[in-house]
Amino acid sequence: AGTSSTRVFLTHLVASMDGVEETYIMVKPDGVQRGLVGEIISRFEKKGFLLKGLKLFQCPKELAEEHYRDLKDKSFYPKLINYITSGPVVCMAWAGVGVVASARKLIGATNPLQAEPGTIRGDLAVQTGRNVVHGSDSPENGHREVVGSGRERQENRQWKGRIRKSTK
Ligand code: ADP
Repeated sequence: AGTSSTRVFLTHLVASMDGVEETYIMVKPDGVQRGLVGEIISRFEKKGFLLKGLKLFQCPKELAEEHYRDLKDKSFYPKLINYITSGPVVCMAWAGVGVVASARKLIGATNPLQAEPGTIRGDLAVQTGRNVVHGSDSPENGHREVVGSGRERQENRQWKGRIRKSTK
């Protein structure tokens, strides 16, 4: 009981702090297949962020397309959609002050060969097309990616909204 009440207390404390944000972190299919889920979660936990929700999820093509809609004109886009839908991903909502920018730092540069040692991609990956983890790039996208857009909610096909509900 002690641990769970501490956790409830922390959740409420974090939610009431100024500047608290939420970000969407996703272990991509290569990260799940390589057994890196624990390692990745551990880095965010050790930093001091709060895990608000988590689920293992097979991403349907339409949702992958929605998630990466800003990249649809890029030459690598078809490969990216294949990659993200190639196996289960682990979807997570993490909360904390400044968590969006800090998570991006913990994750490292998009190209793992350019990511600093000590970052997740810098330590664990070599290819841009297999870079093990996603993190929201702004607080607005963090909110949208965790909660889902109005249209996604209406169509009841958001993955991230369900993570959040499961923690309430
Ligand atoms: P980030 O994930 O670091 O925010 P982007 O939003 O630019 O990076 O790209 C989204 C994802 O698309 C990347 O994480 C990577 O998986 C993939 N990607 C980006 N650029 C390339 C590329 N040149 N070749 C293959 N995949 C890419």
